[in-house]
Amino acid sequence: RAKGEGRGAFRFFEAEMDHAAQLRRVLELDLRKALAREEFELHYQPLIDLTSGRIAACEALLRWRHPMRGLISPAEFVPIAEETGLIVPIGEWVLRRACADAVKWPETVRLAVNLSPVQFRNHDVTKQIVDALAQSGLPASRLELEITEAVLLQDSEATLDAMRALQKLGIRMSLDDFGIGYSSLSYLNKFSFQKIKIDASFVKNLERNDGAIAIIRAVAGMGADLGMAIVVEGIETVEQLERVKAEGCTQGQGYLFSPPLPVAAVGELFAAGAGTIQLVA
Ligand code: C2E
Ligand code: MG
Ligand code: MG
Ligand code: MG
Repeated sequence: RAKGEGRGAFRFFEAEMDHAAQLRRVLELDLRKALAREEFELHYQPLIDLTSGRIAACEALLRWRHPMRGLISPAEFVPIAEETGLIVPIGEWVLRRACADAVKWPETVRLAVNLSPVQFRNHDVTKQIVDALAQSGLPASRLELEITEAVLLQDSEATLDAMRALQKLGIRMSLDDFGIGYSSLSYLNKFSFQKIKIDASFVKNLERNDGAIAIIRAVAGMGADLGMAIVVEGIETVEQLERVKAEGCTQGQGYLFSPPLPVAAVGELFAAGAGTIQLVA
């Protein structure tokens, strides 16, 4: 009896697995065609200078407009793109598209682009970046590349060389999602970054968690000493803005200021002269 039930449960589990695997396989097949079918688009989210309220940069965030499933978030398909290597051609498209868009913005506004560890492992990434800048005419000094600590874990000598080469061109490096990975302060010493983006999870707990504010304060202090900009991601409330500003964070990003916007909306923002977002006093 019990044996039979166990078998039934296992079959059910197997069927569920099959279903998940099937969905993933379909997504993977669709992902292979998505570039040629021009199903990707970039949305842009402003990074706000917390002293002036000016838009310091806009971060390109990838979206997939699937013909059947609608807008799919990168959290869902970037991992598949990384496992299959598709992130390399997709990432190249992101670089080209984003540079071509950003060259139309005011010169004071930088472009931030996310790079996957898989792209960094591919040694063509430096060439892809240089080509995207050359083709668009965007100055290297206006580009910020966001990488996570996962990039630093892999072949660190090659990564160090690539980062140095990019920085020599005038490109800025940002450490994304700081504080949730295998954060090691030795990385900050070995690799040089112009910007640290403190992960949104620290801001979420701000009101209820004294530890979170202590960490934000410490990172902001370190950033000031090392000459790095400190950005806090995921700012949603005025209280959060006030707290992180008081601790010396230099930039902010989050729904309080603006969600990621379609490219036309970003253009309108700048055309209307709205390069500044009114910060609450
Ligand atoms: P990320 O680079 O850390 O981007 C921040 C994410 O937080 C974005 O999610 C953004 O929409 C979201 N966000 C911004 N403000 C708020 C807020 O106030 N509250 C909350 N709850 N969320 C906020 P998104 O666009 O879904 O992107 C998720 C991740 O996907 C990104 O995290 C990045 O790691 C990856 N990604 C996005 N675009 C690209 C890309 O072009 N290439 C690569 N390799 N990865 C990308
Ligand atoms: Mg990012
Ligand atoms: Mg982040
Ligand atoms: Mg993130």
